Amino acid sequence: MQITEIFKSIQGESSYAGLPCIFVRLTGCNLRCTWCDSEYSFYGGRKMSPDEVFTEIERLGGKLVEITGGEPLLQEREVVPFMQRLLQAGYRVLLETSGERSLAKVPSDVVKIVDVKCPDSGEPDSFRMENLESLGPRDEVKFVISSRADYEFARKFSQTHQLEQRVHNLLFSPAFRQDASGGRDTSHCLLDPRELAEWMLADNIPARFGFQIHKFIWDPAMKGV
Ligand code: SF4
Repeated sequence: MQITEIFKSIQGESSYAGLPCIFVRLTGCNLRCTWCDSEYSFYGGRKMSPDEVFTEIERLGGKLVEITGGEPLLQEREVVPFMQRLLQAGYRVLLETSGERSLAKVPSDVVKIVDVKCPDSGEPDSFRMENLESLGPRDEVKFVISSRADYEFARKFSQTHQLEQRVHNLLFSPAFRQDASGGRDTSHCLLDPRELAEWMLADNIPARFGFQIHKFIWDPAMKGV
């Protein structure tokens, strides 16, 4: 597998937010979201065998692992059996994916945290619609929102496809500025979180409001956290 980094941190998003978690960040992505905070994972990295990655996970310690990127499913042939191996070894496995790649081969015990890209991401219509059929009661769908237009898209998409009934957790999260650095506060959000929260309350949106909490613990520009 081509790996950008493996590290232990606090899970920043999803219903696992706040828990210690080992992150395996795979190299490469076929999308170019305007607010992407992991562009450094697009190129480079180093080749590691599944055994080497597994050994590093064991060395770091803990039982929660997130496979992320980049887009990890670009390396589906290797990453699917690797996730299976982690499950068999007793790990809880989370997979963070853009929603553009097919989820059909992902083991059903993996918790899929799937983006649906909103218009202002610069990657509208990238969600693979047949992935809706691969979502189950342990999975999570995330909308990263940077404008009212994004919010309206997320609201309508969730309602049209009854996402609340399909998945465990529906997440609406304000986008962070790509160049965010310095203060660990909401001034780096592209959309005022208060506005997003008030829209959600006004419309009775059955979604969880989400912050990337690692960006409030460490400098938002810091890698490997
Ligand atoms: S899919 Fe993820 S890694 Fe790829 S460009 Fe978008 S935010 Fe960045």
